[in-house]
Amino acid sequence: MLLLCACQTAAERSDAHNVPVPVNRKDYDLGRTTVNGVKSVDETDRKILSELQTDGRASFREISSRVKVSTPTVSSRVQAMTDNGLIRGYSVVLDADLLGQVSVAILIEAKPSEIDAVVDRIKGEDIVRQVHVLSDSRILCILSFYDQKKYQTFIQSLSRISEIAKIDNSMILKTEKEMPRASLTTESGLHLKCYYCGHQMRDEGVKLKLDGKTHYVCCGVCAKLYKEKYDRLKEAASPFVTV
Ligand SMILES: [Zn+2]
Repeated sequence: MLLLCACQTAAERSDAHNVPVPVNRKDYDLGRTTVNGVKSVDETDRKILSELQTDGRASFREISSRVKVSTPTVSSRVQAMTDNGLIRGYSVVLDADLLGQVSVAILIEAKPSEIDAVVDRIKGEDIVRQVHVLSDSRILCILSFYDQKKYQTFIQSLSRISEIAKIDNSMILKTEKEMPRASLTTESGLHLKCYYCGHQMRDEGVKLKLDGKTHYVCCGVCAKLYKEKYDRLKEAASPFVTV
């Protein structure tokens, strides 16, 4: 039997459609999915995430007492949301104003075909803290810096990028609200992407359990190829693993 992967484009996967589906169904099980591959983020998930957004250092025990679920439930939910990429990490939130830095918003206009090139040129700069690609061929950047010279050097470097048609900038005088960009409401859904081919899952997908972690792939073909790649990487890394 062959399963066709509906979402493969990369050269690495060019012959993947001819790869037989792995037969050992014990290796993985089907995930909990709602419509069009969008997984539900249920009320418990939302409550746990909300607690973590408020205090990323809260212990699972503290969260369990606030959310009224058991500690193991919190632990397994957090692990699952980490495995599927929804929780991308934990960081400290600093008061930028107390640090005495200056922030500037910059709107950069470029041809639609040049947007990616412009983003690649600027996103690695230290003083560029946020980069948002807008729907009207513009890029919104938030810059923060202490040294005016650094800012001037950056602006001069922008003027040398030929793909940029126009630059507008304004200093940010006050920030009245600054919330995490991820908003948690009842409409929240998880648009899972295949770990192997990177495309958004359009159906139930496959949950692959490897070394106690869950990995999400879109189909049996990707599951097989992902498992092979995982095993290769694990084998290559094994001499350096200390227990
Ligand atoms: Zn895939």
